Amino acid sequence: EALLTVDAVSRDYGNGGFWLWRQKPVRAVDRVSFSLGRGESVALVGPSGCGKSTLARMIVGLDSTTEGQFRLDGTLYHGRNLPPLLRGGVSLVFQDPFSSFDPLMTVGTSLGEPLRLLRQMTREERGRRLVEAITSVGLDPAMLSRYPHEFSGGQRQRLAIARAMVTKPRLLVLDEPVSALDVSVRGDVLNLLGRLQEEHGLTYLIISHDLDMVAAMADRVLVMEAGRIVEQGRPDDLFARP
Ligand code: ADP
Ligand code: ADP
Repeated sequence: EALLTVDAVSRDYGNGGFWLWRQKPVRAVDRVSFSLGRGESVALVGPSGCGKSTLARMIVGLDSTTEGQFRLDGTLYHGRNLPPLLRGGVSLVFQDPFSSFDPLMTVGTSLGEPLRLLRQMTREERGRRLVEAITSVGLDPAMLSRYPHEFSGGQRQRLAIARAMVTKPRLLVLDEPVSALDVSVRGDVLNLLGRLQEEHGLTYLIISHDLDMVAAMADRVLVMEAGRIVEQGRPDDLFARP
């Protein structure tokens, strides 16, 4: 059975507001269906504005669906129910590691946030998880008491991955995981993601417009256009040059 099943999911924006100013809603995601097998790496590609980030936010529970539903490991959900999702093991790595950490918090406090939200762990257990997570991305646990500005771009992306890992997810949604990084550190972060996937049996949904990265990392590619999945296949078949 699939780890994640996406069943005819749609999302409209602009439906709220006072009726006088109410505008025609924009359909950002339009009846999308697909599934992710356990341990699979699937890339989601398509032009800017086609609905990739909206779909990603719904999958991780940061945004609600207008129609349709998801099934993760047999559990149904419609988005906007974050704690159950955290328990079920979905995490998002945001596109921009520079804006995803609060500059006034130590990275230890930022990394611990998803765990505090779950309210099921003692301080000691949380502390152990943080040390485990930061070590798994190749950083020193002593760095937990530092602030985000003390880290380089590559290190910050490692921290963002560590924060996604603290809840021990089975599915990681990676929104442009290396596009904000220097070319010189992209390879390191990609190697890290490959190693984590092997060690933890993770499933990846990777949003990217970097076709070289997609070709290197993805088992399967979903092509999105104007809110719909218009094509899917293996990277070799889709990107084969005539
Ligand atoms: P992508 O990630 O592929 O660039 P998005 O999911 O960001 O696409 O956007 C899909 C569509 O939804 C676009 O038309 C965008 O303008 C619209 N959209 C995205 N987020 C919002 C929002 N919070 N409010 C209103 N419209 C939005
Ligand atoms: P609390 O809000 O109760 O302090 P936290 O989730 O912030 O709980 O922290 C839980 C544990 O994580 C702490 O006991 C500590 O061991 C570890 N921890 C949190 N922040 C840091 C940090 N900045 N540096 C080192 N360890 C930290």
